[in-house]
Amino acid sequence: ATRPRRGASALAARRRSTFSTSLSLSYREPLHIVRGEGAYLYDSSGRPWLDLVNNVCHVGHCHPRVVEAAHRQAAVLNTNTRYLHESIVELAHRLIELMPDPLRVCFFVNSGSEANDLALRLAAAHTGSQDVLVLDHAYHGHLTSQIALSPYKFHRRGGLGKPDTTHICELPDPYRGGLRAGRDSELAGGYAASVAERIDALTATGRKPAAFFAESLQSCGGQIVYPDGYLREAFEHVRRGGGVCVADEVQVGLGRVGRFFSGFELQDVVPDIVTLGKPMGNGHPIAAVVTTPEIARSFETGMEYFNTFGGNPVSAEVGLAVLDVIRDERLQAQARDRGERLLRGLRGLQQRHPLIGDVRGEGLFIGVELSLADREPATAQAAAVKEAVKARGVLISTDGPDDNVLKIKPPLVLAEADCDLFLEVLGDALAEVEALL
Ligand code: PMP
Repeated sequence: ATRPRRGASALAARRRSTFSTSLSLSYREPLHIVRGEGAYLYDSSGRPWLDLVNNVCHVGHCHPRVVEAAHRQAAVLNTNTRYLHESIVELAHRLIELMPDPLRVCFFVNSGSEANDLALRLAAAHTGSQDVLVLDHAYHGHLTSQIALSPYKFHRRGGLGKPDTTHICELPDPYRGGLRAGRDSELAGGYAASVAERIDALTATGRKPAAFFAESLQSCGGQIVYPDGYLREAFEHVRRGGGVCVADEVQVGLGRVGRFFSGFELQDVVPDIVTLGKPMGNGHPIAAVVTTPEIARSFETGMEYFNTFGGNPVSAEVGLAVLDVIRDERLQAQARDRGERLLRGLRGLQQRHPLIGDVRGEGLFIGVELSLADREPATAQAAAVKEAVKARGVLISTDGPDDNVLKIKPPLVLAEADCDLFLEVLGDALAEVEALL
């Protein structure tokens, strides 16, 4: 049976009648997207949109090799992981080859939230503690356990506040944070001191941290690149306090940062637990937790870990295809190259546009923070720039505690011409918004 074709406004009305308003749509005029290819989305009228938002379709929308892998395996077998099967074993080995020692044990789950929930269970089992340190403005997932670790949610509209077992460390944000002036080494130590303070406060009450959760670069909190050495010092404090270090690589992993496969390598650290999600399946729900044999053993309590869909053969084949494409198309190197091109262009725009307060990023993980005088967040202007960029056929998003950071985190298959198109469009959009100031 064919479904009736509805126009965008009829579809929006039908959606409203069965959806909670807590699920939002992007943009003033929501888009009705029907197809994706490479770095482009196509709406129901056939109009192309350059997609600089989608960090999930990592190797490009509907990459043929990923589509083919899903299709091929779905036609043969899809079941849970209680049987021997090559695909999941191979995927675990491939992932672990990409991680430093001693990260040698892999669990498969279905989403970033599930990965972080499992990381929390592993940390609690290993340390016997429930207390978790997180960075201010962090987001780690939508499960109850992860909302509890996400100031981005519990300290914002609708949030219920900080749970007693969550401890917020200062966000090492060199542009807007409490410490700004100084060399990276001074900033790193200064911000890491906030981790030590939280641990001391816990110790004083006879508790100790189970874990320190941090993204390797903070995404929802405003595309933050930490000062060099920050994670190394923070990890030292955490380990001295008896906790384990969890790197949330859900947004920044799998080559996005260009110079390295994992974001944490930028900070020259090895976490105890790494969580992976979004890009792993190029849109198919697969995620993973990688940890040390020692922590994995602490979790072997006699209780089975069973996850119905985690690591099923179709998901595992999709995961393998994504890793193959990253390798064969040299997408990590491409992320570095395109990222450098964008950062260069954005720094050029910063010279001409007073609205740009800061440009930062690594590879294809970039933030452009818009500010007024004295670094006052240009929140309304960021929303206007996002819409003005969209009016010119390019999709970006805004985020950060003040929603004034333009986020750029496209599929890694972005072409040089796409970078140049965006820079031109952003320049025009900024001029249009600045003219209204
Ligand atoms: N961690 C980070 C850093 C994220 O950005 C997200 C999703 N935005 C999650 C975890 C949760 O992932 P998922 O939505 O796949 O559950």
